[in-house]
Amino acid sequence: MSDHQFDTAQVHAGFDPAANADSVTPVIYSNAAFWLENSQRGHDVANGDVPGFLYSRVSNPTVSFLEKRIAELDGAKEAVAVASGMAAITYALLNAAEGGGHIIAPYDVYGGTFDSLRTLLPQFGVTTSFVENINDLEHIESLIEQGSDGKGGTDVKAIFAESVSNPTTVVTDVEALAELAHRHGIPLIIDNTLPTPYLYRPLEHGADIVVYSTTKALSGHGNAIGGVVASGDSFDWANGRYPQFTTPEYILGEAAGREPRSFVEAAGPLAFIRRLRLKYLRLTGAVLGPFEAYLQLIGLETLTERVSKETASAGKVAAYLAGQRHVTAVNYAGLPGGAQSGLVAANYPNGIGSVLSFELEGGHEQTAAFINQVKLFRYLANIGDARSLIVDPVNTTHREFTKEARAIVGVGPTTIRLSIGLENPDDLIADLSQAFDAVYGK
Ligand SMILES: *Cc1c(COP(=O)(O)O)cnc(C)c1O
Repeated sequence: MSDHQFDTAQVHAGFDPAANADSVTPVIYSNAAFWLENSQRGHDVANGDVPGFLYSRVSNPTVSFLEKRIAELDGAKEAVAVASGMAAITYALLNAAEGGGHIIAPYDVYGGTFDSLRTLLPQFGVTTSFVENINDLEHIESLIEQGSDGKGGTDVKAIFAESVSNPTTVVTDVEALAELAHRHGIPLIIDNTLPTPYLYRPLEHGADIVVYSTTKALSGHGNAIGGVVASGDSFDWANGRYPQFTTPEYILGEAAGREPRSFVEAAGPLAFIRRLRLKYLRLTGAVLGPFEAYLQLIGLETLTERVSKETASAGKVAAYLAGQRHVTAVNYAGLPGGAQSGLVAANYPNGIGSVLSFELEGGHEQTAAFINQVKLFRYLANIGDARSLIVDPVNTTHREFTKEARAIVGVGPTTIRLSIGLENPDDLIADLSQAFDAVYGK
């Protein structure tokens, strides 16, 4: 498939009709476990020596179609699909930084990610330095050199950022950040949920690991929760900073009747993604169900059509909002003339996506009234749906933000986030317009 264009791959990659009863739509394999046929094949499948499925907590054919399709669209070597975007983020961060590692991340990340980095991962020994500006390379380099205790060392294990942040659409300069990370032997992990691989492919710009909430624009219909971790093959996991990939592993060696082997010895540059499946997915079990994988495969088939229309409409809505009297700020890096327009032009030729946010004049009362007045926009905590959505992040998607984080990121009581769907943009603008009139008078 890799000789095909993106929009061809999105309907074909990863699925072979000839191997699936001549079905051309992806088949749902609703199996817990798979027939091993005979003792020898059972051993070989369990040891990973021949292709095959054993048990759906580790891998499942329908889930595997999705993994292969997303890997191809993202330019990744291998992907693991999991039960949610948060599972993808948790697994990726722990796989890199478990056992006392340190992470560098910006404040402006998804609320759940912020809460996990700040309050949960430390319980597992993984701590985070939050930075105000992820594109401030000098500051980030000084944090890497200082280590978590400020005294130097090698405990910084990953840099994590969103390619386009939710909800303020700050764009990360992935190329510059990857170059800096690699100079110190550290991987760059990018949450690419907002742009999707159609608008941006972080691995092509130097990132090492990409995570997605497939719940959002990637599947696009607000009908299934899911996540994916995708890996390239250029990072050296044997560079001395990551003993978890170079220590002999019982299940890869002795249990398989072999000499001791580490993940690096068994999988080379794919050590990270193989270990993520065999340690985190297999042993903590946030597995994607085959039906959810099927819904996401069907959603993916229209990715380019949906995201290009939604992004064009988001640009129109953002321009409309920028001209509104009662809007004090519009956060949409896709607007011409913005502070990041050079970075956007160089990296996002097809736009930055369907999510934007803005600030209303007034306070909490006006925000509540505005949300209650819109008729077409649905008030719910999701993005990337075929329908347009509206939300007040401080009460919903970003309620985990501390006061300090809110001030830094610029998410407050008058912030409203929109996710633009497939409706006619004129109808969306008319809906916003009648809500402004109702709240502020004509
Ligand atoms: C929604 C979201 C997540 C979390 O994904 P779930 O599928 O809800 O677990 C992570 N990152 C970003 C940018 C998101 O928008």
